[in-house]
Amino acid sequence: MAAGSPAIGIDLGTTYSCVGVFQHGRIEIIANFQGNRTTPSYVAFKGSERLIGEAAKNQEAMNPTNTIFNTKRLIGRKFHDDTVQSDMMHWPFQVICEKGKPKVMVQYKGENKTFFPEEISSMVLSKMKEFAEAYLGKKVENAVITVPAYFNDAQRQATKDAGTITGLNVLRIMNEPTAAAIAYGLDKKRILKHEKNVLIFDLGGGTFDVSILSIQEAIFEVKATAGDTHLGGEDFDDRMVNHLIKEFKHKHKKDITSDKRAVRRLRTACEKAKRILSFSSYASIEIDSFYEGIDFYTFISRARFEELNADLFRGTLKLVEKALKDAKLNKSQIHEIVLVGGSTRIPKIQKLLKDFFNGKQLNKTINPDEAIAYGAAVEAAILMGEKSENLQDLLLLDVTPLSLGIETAGGLMTPVIKRNTTIPTIQTEMFTTYFDNQTCVTMKVYEGERALAKSNKLLGNFKLTGISPAYRGIPKIQVTFDIDTNGILHVTATDQNSGRKNNITINNDNGHLSKDDIDQMVEEAKKYRLEDEIIRDRVAARNTLEAYIFDLIQTVEKNTPRIKLRGEAKRDILEECQEVLKWLEGNQMADVNEYEHKQKELERVFNLSVIKLCFSVGSGHHAAQSSEEPRSSIDEVD
Ligand code: ADP
Ligand code: MG
Repeated sequence: MAAGSPAIGIDLGTTYSCVGVFQHGRIEIIANFQGNRTTPSYVAFKGSERLIGEAAKNQEAMNPTNTIFNTKRLIGRKFHDDTVQSDMMHWPFQVICEKGKPKVMVQYKGENKTFFPEEISSMVLSKMKEFAEAYLGKKVENAVITVPAYFNDAQRQATKDAGTITGLNVLRIMNEPTAAAIAYGLDKKRILKHEKNVLIFDLGGGTFDVSILSIQEAIFEVKATAGDTHLGGEDFDDRMVNHLIKEFKHKHKKDITSDKRAVRRLRTACEKAKRILSFSSYASIEIDSFYEGIDFYTFISRARFEELNADLFRGTLKLVEKALKDAKLNKSQIHEIVLVGGSTRIPKIQKLLKDFFNGKQLNKTINPDEAIAYGAAVEAAILMGEKSENLQDLLLLDVTPLSLGIETAGGLMTPVIKRNTTIPTIQTEMFTTYFDNQTCVTMKVYEGERALAKSNKLLGNFKLTGISPAYRGIPKIQVTFDIDTNGILHVTATDQNSGRKNNITINNDNGHLSKDDIDQMVEEAKKYRLEDEIIRDRVAARNTLEAYIFDLIQTVEKNTPRIKLRGEAKRDILEECQEVLKWLEGNQMADVNEYEHKQKELERVFNLSVIKLCFSVGSGHHAAQSSEEPRSSIDEVD
């Protein structure tokens, strides 16, 4: 092995390929010469020129019969395989049979030339190798190459041969879902010492693969695979193309369907627009002299795009269900979900999947179209004997084993970072004060799943002083929990009005919980869940009632511009308020119903006196909760 020459990881995709390397203590995804981090798996022959990657894809419209793509659908297969026969019908290039194997035929240097799929794939691989060598400034000899989990021996061997033809020493042919799981360090996580089930949702350009892996002590087992070999980003592009063909027809009374070049240009524009719609709600499409000299300028909304593809998007969930069924697992037995493939950048896809798993957090911090190359690069470094501490750290990329939060009014634990959130992470929540003119809050930081803070583990506390005096509930105290890559937690509290802030740093090795502690705490929390829920509801009802009383007193006493009650009515309400407050003091453990009943009664008294005196009622004390509204209040007591 060449000294100092790192091994690369290559995701050789059906539509796009990606290469990564472990260098300078981290995984780097290598951009191609156009600056893009994935490269079309395309090879084209044009006169005496051979084009690979972007250059090949860009001239596709002009040279369809000599532009080869989708070789991954041919590699390691027999010419007479059903899939080969049906795929062939959709390709503009010719596929012939030689000794039972498929070969593509093109015009190259003035004559008919044929190539095995291994050869075409090796051309793509050599381009990826070239990008890596240019980036690293040295020759690359070793590589890990990924293949779908369902690839058989012949397909794996043929992929390896493609690497050998490229002049690469193929260290390993690795399963794509395994690479994705490794990218997230899921084999190293410490939450579960038992078997862990990981679902990999890979929606790429032309294929959709669901894999369920079980990981135990760094052994990966494929429990089930499901998917659709003809579902992916290109289908979404097609739907948009058809929609716009109709639109053009409607606007200009012209049908472009038979003009292959116009259709291809439209498809290219649609793919671009689709990518934009993943982070923007509108995308414009502008094609100059599109058809018979007419320009086509239009736009498409995200909502329309989602509507055009609704059945395809939802269809992916059916296949997730199938994979679960085959693996004999139910949703709740999946510990981790990993997003892979460029099409999982589509927000609607993420939402559908998250909802399907009842709001479970998805692993998506690594770009989904880079996750496989990322994992392949990790594996490549390990196989080369890389012992760097950073690589170990990288693999320890972790999640928060328990929820982290602060104590709020009534001794409640209010999580700011939920359990199992991938770190690093930053989460911010707004809180407020508990008393009028409260100028100080005590921030107590806890870790755990129980409803009451005191049942969890106290990690540390600090005070925020100098809060601008105001009525209770008015100040906005922004609390930020920031966990860095080293697992160190920084908690900052800022009074939005005065700008005063304070913070605490909690080191994770400072008396942190052991794996056993964590397992035990999670188990306990499960056991106490019902009990905790009752407590949480009670405290919430008590707090709501108390807040209502204080608001009412304030509204009535301060004669806010909205409500002006005088004399007897005012006195009645204030007396009633004091009475309920007294009752509250003596009934800290009452039923939710009782608190609610008391509140209804107060509301009735208040409404009655307002009606009686014919004063207008504002909504002063019923302010709607928006996400901007503080979530809970914090006491100042220690
Ligand atoms: P492959 O299927 O070959 O493994 P990828 O995983 O890279 O390839 O997926 C390629 C597909 O992802 C293409 O259809 C591409 O249009 C789509 N894609 C890439 N980026 C986005 C994005 N931001 N939003 C929607 N689709 C995207
Ligand atoms: Mg892929």
